Amino acid sequence: MIIVLKPQSTDQDVQAVSDMVTSLRYQPRIIRGVEHTVVACVGDELNNRSLEALRNLPSVDTVIPIQHRYKLASREYHHADSVVTVGGVSIGNGSITILAGPCAMEGAGQFRNAVKDLTAAGVRLIRAMPYKPRTSPYDFQGLREEGVRIMREVKAETGVSFVSEVMGPSHVEQLADVADMYQIGARNAQNYDLLEVVAAARKPVLLKRGMASTVEEWLAAAEYLLVNGCSQVVLCERGLRSFDHAVRNVLDLGAVAVAKAESHLPVLVDPSHAAGKRSLVFPLACAALAAGADGLIIETHPDPVNAFSDAAQQLDSARFRDFLAELAPWMELAAKKKRMRPPSPAG
Ligand code: PEP
Ligand code: MN
Repeated sequence: MIIVLKPQSTDQDVQAVSDMVTSLRYQPRIIRGVEHTVVACVGDELNNRSLEALRNLPSVDTVIPIQHRYKLASREYHHADSVVTVGGVSIGNGSITILAGPCAMEGAGQFRNAVKDLTAAGVRLIRAMPYKPRTSPYDFQGLREEGVRIMREVKAETGVSFVSEVMGPSHVEQLADVADMYQIGARNAQNYDLLEVVAAARKPVLLKRGMASTVEEWLAAAEYLLVNGCSQVVLCERGLRSFDHAVRNVLDLGAVAVAKAESHLPVLVDPSHAAGKRSLVFPLACAALAAGADGLIIETHPDPVNAFSDAAQQLDSARFRDFLAELAPWMELAAKKKRMRPPSPAG
């Protein structure tokens, strides 16, 4: 942490700041400039008490933190890419991983058809969403417990792996025997109590970025999972809210590149919730791969036009094989680039 004192600070002011820095278990190093005196504080910002209190001293102009607010998630802590394995499928191992499935489970027939289409297209990680966060309480709320029962049946029939969103601690328990990966949705990306409960379940977690989270907040949310015992965290960029409704959310590809550079965790991209429109899913998927994403999570439905939620953005699951065939050259190039040039910390 760096503390900048106001111009005209006296020797007494500098001493008061140094004394407080020492009392907070940092070593002060005083640098006297022409106009400002700066006190550099040597110590571990994550384990020592915060120096924010120094802002209260009348002679202090600014307090600038140096260390990130995450450590276990950082590439400095763990240089090599982490690989997360879900139901035998690896994410972050240099290949491109595809997760797909309907926005919501709507019924046994709809879900079975989606799984049949997707497994035929080679997808092994399926979105199974019995619990849905909906903006309006009058919108379809998901199949809930009935959906979990259907998941159990379909898993027994097909052996596929499921990623399921948990909106609260009770869902963690309800899905424990059938979900292979928990999803924390954008709306819960900073629900720290939920992150702690999910971490305690020791299952892989797909952590979406909040729709207005900074990259630092996103990585700090991942840190909550890691520090509470979940070692298998996958980040997911899904677009930021903006003034422009040309797309549903602005896909932040810079954040994908930054997350890959700053963190060892795998990064997926959800082009569906960023696009909001079927026709935009493909270009955003290609762009995500070019930016260094380790894979994609894409909404697909056997009858997208009549879907109960997100009908405009879901791809036809029966044609997902064609979509993947069209995407194949981009996936191959992205995987090849990963092998050639592993990410290094952003500087
Ligand atoms: C979802 O993936 O089902 C979803 C609701 O997405 P998000 O949390 O990104 O809005
Ligand atoms: Mn959706």
